[in-house]
Order: sequence, then structure tokens, then C-alpha cells
Amino acid sequence: AIDFRWIRDNRDAVAVNIKKRNSNANLDLVLDLYDKLLSLQKEVERLRGERNVIANKMKGKLEPAERQKLIEEGKNLKDGLATLEEDLLKLTDELQQEAQCIPNMTHPEVPVGGEECSTIRKMVGKQREFNFSVKDHLQLGKELDLFDFDAASEVSGSKFYYLKNEAVMLEMALINWTLAEVMKRGFTPLITPEIVRSMVVEKCGFQPRGANTQVYSIEGSDQCLIGTAEIPVGGIHMDSILADSSLPLKYVAYSHCFRTEAGAAGMAARGLYRVHQFSKVEMFILCRPAESEVYLDELIRIEEDLFSALGFHFKTLDMASADLGAPAYRKFDVEAWMPGLGRYGEISSASNCTDYQSRRLGIRFRPSEASVTAPKKGKGNLAPTQFVHTLNATACAVPRMIVCLLENYQQEDGSIIIPEPLRPFMGGLELIAPK
Ligand code: AMP
Repeated sequence: AIDFRWIRDNRDAVAVNIKKRNSNANLDLVLDLYDKLLSLQKEVERLRGERNVIANKMKGKLEPAERQKLIEEGKNLKDGLATLEEDLLKLTDELQQEAQCIPNMTHPEVPVGGEECSTIRKMVGKQREFNFSVKDHLQLGKELDLFDFDAASEVSGSKFYYLKNEAVMLEMALINWTLAEVMKRGFTPLITPEIVRSMVVEKCGFQPRGANTQVYSIEGSDQCLIGTAEIPVGGIHMDSILADSSLPLKYVAYSHCFRTEAGAAGMAARGLYRVHQFSKVEMFILCRPAESEVYLDELIRIEEDLFSALGFHFKTLDMASADLGAPAYRKFDVEAWMPGLGRYGEISSASNCTDYQSRRLGIRFRPSEASVTAPKKGKGNLAPTQFVHTLNATACAVPRMIVCLLENYQQEDGSIIIPEPLRPFMGGLELIAPK
């Protein structure tokens, strides 16, 4: 549950944070609705109390006139209560909707400002040099018969694609190699549902409704297509109390992702860079609050290991406050050099969402006895539960990896060298050559 009391008690800090993150959350409205909710709750409680008093009086011996009077009073109370209870539900819903927009707080070291203020944490490799004129992935793919955008456009619409021939093997190899690498590091593999309830999307901090939503909703149902496996993985432990000894839980999930890309017109619109449907391998960790910064580092290191193994030139960025999205407390993106595009392009994103998602999803844990001092123990001598922290990070977003691979490993004759780690997953194939 969202901690409204905390938000009210820390009003100034929350307001500063909303500004820092260039969020359109309306804090005044949220706090106003919260005050209204509290007084309405009080009034409902008062009327329920009165109703109980009347019910108790009715149990005793009464003159018929008196009984009649009590029946009248009881009926009026019941009608009044029903109206107020309905108002309470509406108000709760409105408050949740508004509060949904309030972003997570921000790590003190996050650079304040827009995307251009993000700082470089690490730079790996350097731009590959070519002694011929480079082609972009679209042209390479066309010459090697790896994609069909035209048929996809007829069958599905723009920003869809068929992968063909070696590109199919390449997608499978990328997924299988990534899964194997991440599983080696102790992550549990998952294949997730790709349709989820809208409320789970909301609880993960995404907006399933509204004009600029990135989420495809299924008409006539309360379900959506997932934009990332983060949502079904976040939901897997919804409304539960995890054993302290089970933490951290580390998952690596494979899924398709579906995005409307509303408002993305003009941004690298060609080819595989920004599409409506793509495959992705996503890492997700649930951990004790004190450990989330350490696990964010671990996730970034895994990403950097994977991209280094594929021989990419990339930089890791500490993303600026206005570019974090609502759930993240801190976020590191990796941008890789794409020679055909002639610029760096984002290939992954790792976020520490602290307790932003776990509060909404209701994922708690009970610290073990040893880690709790006696005076802090709750009922029955058990330690009180706490919300876990959640983190997510891209291990492999396939289309942009294909862009990187084709554009970086192109040869003068138009063939593509397959990086060594992927070869065993492609039946030993070393080269995609023109047919
Ligand atoms: P996000 O979940 O938005 O952080 O995205 C994770 C990764 O998925 C990004 O770093 C991109 O590599 C990739 N990605 C995001 N949106 C798209 C898209 N529309 N088409 C292709 N790849 C995408």
C-alpha cells in the first residue's frame, strides 16, 4: 500500500522530488483527497458505531413505540451509511489513481536534470574502424534476406517485422546464450504469461490507461499485453510474506514485449530499433532493503559482462532524474555504438525500484530473529514484516542486439561475422554470408 502518511509528513521533500523528476504528479490534489478520505473514514466509523448502539438497544425489552422509533433510526442510519460507503470507495479509487503518478524518491547521487545531464559511469572498448563505407542493419538485412518489413506491415502494421533465415537462429542463439550465462550466476529461469491484469501493470508503476500509455489493453477485459517481463515477474509474489532465508530471489525471464510506442514518432523510426513487439531476457531481483544497492551493482556488472563478451563498444550511464520513470530510485542505462546508425543507442536499462513496487504489490518479508533486536519485535515475538526491494535489468533486448551485431560485425563483402560465444548456439555457424 502507498504510505500516504509518510507522503504527508514529508510533503516538502516529495514536492522537490516531483519537480526534480519532471513528473506531472499533483501532490496537492493527492493530499487533499487523502484528508477527505480520512474524514470520510471517521464519519463512516462514527455511523457504524451508532448503528451498533441501536442494534444492542433492540436486543433489550422495549415499549412498542420506542422499538418503532429505533427501527426508523436504524433504517435512516443504514441508508446514510450505504451512501457514504459508496463515496468512500469512489474516493479511494480517485486517490489511488492520482497517487499512482507520484514517482519514487531519488538516490542522492543521481544527476539532476534531463537526459543530457546523465553521467558516464563506465566506457568499454572503442568505435570499430572500417576501411569501407558501412551499411545500416536494414540494408545489411535486406541484402542477406534476414527480415521482411513489407509483409509485416501488410499483415500487422508498421513497426512489425518477420525475421528470416539466420536472423531467426540469431534471435534464438541470443536468448539461449543469455539465459545460460545468467543462470550460471544463480538466477532462476522463467517463461512468463504475456497477458496480465491491468492492476498488476499499475502496481508495478506503469500506466495502463490514458492518452500516452505504452500499454496495449485488451478490449472488453481488464487485461493488457506486457511491455516487459518485469510485470509478470513482479507479480509472481504479489500479496505474500517471503521467508527471510529465501532472499534474495533472482529471476531471469524470457518473454515477448509489446509496446504502443505512443509519442515516439521520428525517433529512429526505421528498422528494428523501435518496434511494437520484441523478445527480451530480463533479470529481476527481490531482496532485503539494505542490499538493493549492492544488487544493482551486480546487475550492471552482468550486463557489462554480456555486452563485453559480444565485443560491443558501450558506455554505462547514471541516468538523470527526469529520465528515471516513476518506479526507479536509480537507473543505469547501457548505450552501445551502432556504426550504421552512426550513434550510441540504448540497449539495456537496470533499475533499483526500492519498495515502490513491493508496497503496491504487497510483497513483504519477515526478518529472521537473529537480525532483530528484542524491543523491535512485534506481536507474538515475531519480527515485524518489511517490504522487499525490487530491481530489474535487461539482459538481452533482441532487436537492438541484432542491430549492434549486424552493424558492428559487417565485412566489406556484406557478410556478418558471428561473435564466438553465440556460435555453439547456431550450430557452429561463423559467418552469415550473401546467398
Ligand atoms: P525498458 O524496459 O524500457 O528499459 O527497455 C529495455 C530495453 O528494451 C531497452 O534498453 C531497449 O534495448 C529495448 N527496447 C525498448 N523499447 C523497444 C522497442 N520499442 N523496440 C525494440 N527494443 C526496445
